[in-house]
Amino acid sequence: MSTEKENVSDKPDKSLNFIEAIIDNDIREGKHGGRIHTRFPPEPNGYLHIGHAKSICLNFGLAKTYNGKCNLRFDDTNPLAEDIEYVKAIKEDVKWLGFDWEDREYYASDYFDQLYAFAVQLIKKDKAYVCELSPEDISNNRGTPTRPGVESPYRYRPIEESLHILEEMKNGKFKKGERVVRAKIDMSSPNMHMRDPVIYRIVEAIHHRTGNKWCIYPSYDFAHGQCDALEKITHSICTLEFEVHRPLYEWFIKELDLFPSRQIEFARLNLTYTVMSKRKLLQLVQEKYVDGWDDPRMPTISGLRRRGYTPSAIRNFAERVGVAKRDNIIDLALLEFSVREDLNKNAPRAMVVTDPVKLTITNYPDGKEETLTAIINPEKPESGTRHIPFSKTLYIERNDFMEDPPKKFFRLSVGKEVRLKYAYVIKCEAVVKDEASGQITEIRCTYDPDTKSGSGKVQLKVKGTIHWVDSEKAIPVKVHLFDRLFTKENPDETQEGRSFLDNINPHSVKTVNAFAEPFVDGAKPLDKFQFERLGYFCVDKQSTDSNMVFNRTTTLRDTWAKINKK
Ligand code: ATP
Ligand code: MG
Repeated sequence: MSTEKENVSDKPDKSLNFIEAIIDNDIREGKHGGRIHTRFPPEPNGYLHIGHAKSICLNFGLAKTYNGKCNLRFDDTNPLAEDIEYVKAIKEDVKWLGFDWEDREYYASDYFDQLYAFAVQLIKKDKAYVCELSPEDISNNRGTPTRPGVESPYRYRPIEESLHILEEMKNGKFKKGERVVRAKIDMSSPNMHMRDPVIYRIVEAIHHRTGNKWCIYPSYDFAHGQCDALEKITHSICTLEFEVHRPLYEWFIKELDLFPSRQIEFARLNLTYTVMSKRKLLQLVQEKYVDGWDDPRMPTISGLRRRGYTPSAIRNFAERVGVAKRDNIIDLALLEFSVREDLNKNAPRAMVVTDPVKLTITNYPDGKEETLTAIINPEKPESGTRHIPFSKTLYIERNDFMEDPPKKFFRLSVGKEVRLKYAYVIKCEAVVKDEASGQITEIRCTYDPDTKSGSGKVQLKVKGTIHWVDSEKAIPVKVHLFDRLFTKENPDETQEGRSFLDNINPHSVKTVNAFAEPFVDGAKPLDKFQFERLGYFCVDKQSTDSNMVFNRTTTLRDTWAKINKK
């Protein structure tokens, strides 16, 4: 049996995405001997976001499906925007997502000598030249999609002269913008990218890897495809905006006689209520609208991690979203659904009261303490049980009591009964108020000792169950209740003269002091819980033993959808 056959995806045809269909076909035709090699090519000029996660899952995922390989390659051709901090963060994020590039960590800058040699090679073939027009003139002479461009007066200069000036450029003889190298293609091509694109330019900056060795740098287009070819990438997957660059990608490969990597474009991931451009994310960070790249409200992988997202929730999301050929916008609720699904299965439960009001059980003996037992995670019985202290004074959520309840309010009000989760049925007898403010300071109840949960004794038909914590044993914690960072589905939709910053949600975080059952004590940063009836929460990285801080990952249900429809 040939290896080609073995590598063909064993998924039924109808579930193949269009890229898998292309790959299957290539394998059937014996292209590259059935070998599949992809790459994930981030530019280290910012932190990775959920859109990158989609691309990572796709590229590493395809390699896995087809027994192939996926390289991590930093596209570091612009020293002005790039930084080693980003390289580090990107590596951490890819690893955290569960992918491994093994020993294949590459940098476009590793190929600078080779890329320079390629430029020389093109000039020698009369397929490139040094141009002395200013950047403005180059731009003005490019024409428009309907009007051909104007050829540069330097286009037909002797090959030797171009070679000589290129050498001088490399040696730092010129300033930024004084000379560039351009491919000699076609100034009247309907594709603007083919109108003698700039392939080398002068950049006066220290590169984070090559230091001051170079003062000329290849353009993105001149680096990307050649790096793919040098690494013998079989399928170079990128987002749709590069579709118009493909003829150029193929032109370089042909003129330089390189390995024929194939570029395939798919639609980038867009999410509602989210900005995904690195430039905008950088602005949010630099202008302190958020608390750094890993602020839990950011769509960055590090932000999602700190928020309580798990790698498998993100991978499942990427799988659900699929691979599209046309631009589209995915509902943020789908991302939240994926994390809920994961945490429902895996997160231990705990009771936490985020807006506490004191509740006294008047007929419960003074000084008595009980230890109640609850399942840690009903979805995972093997997770065992936890112990919850119970006594005469508790805290419950303020909004679980109403003085004037509407008909369907099944929680507490004077004269009504409710079950305290894992404990007893209680009946509210009275409330105590602060004279000045009128605010309720204490809810007074009686309990029925025969109604203990799990006792098998008389179980009264009470409709509501509420969560609570013991006032003595509960531990004070801080909880960040996050909401969407933007108020508009499309944050870029603004009136004239305004920007996406005007659509920032002023209430995207609310911090409350809460009480948690002792079970959460000792939890470490990134540990996750379902706070019963409230949602999923994760210990923040700034949490310490004496000051536990939780981030709300998401609510239990998509409450936002309902509020929004009103
Ligand atoms: P941005 O527009 O946010 O600056 P970028 O495309 O410039 O993103 P790169 O670091 O060049 O960022 O991206 C690395 C890889 O991730 C590229 O292959 C790119 O196509 C892909 N990618 C970037 N954004 C998305 C997205 N929203 N959805 C899917 N893939 C994406
Ligand atoms: Mg890019």
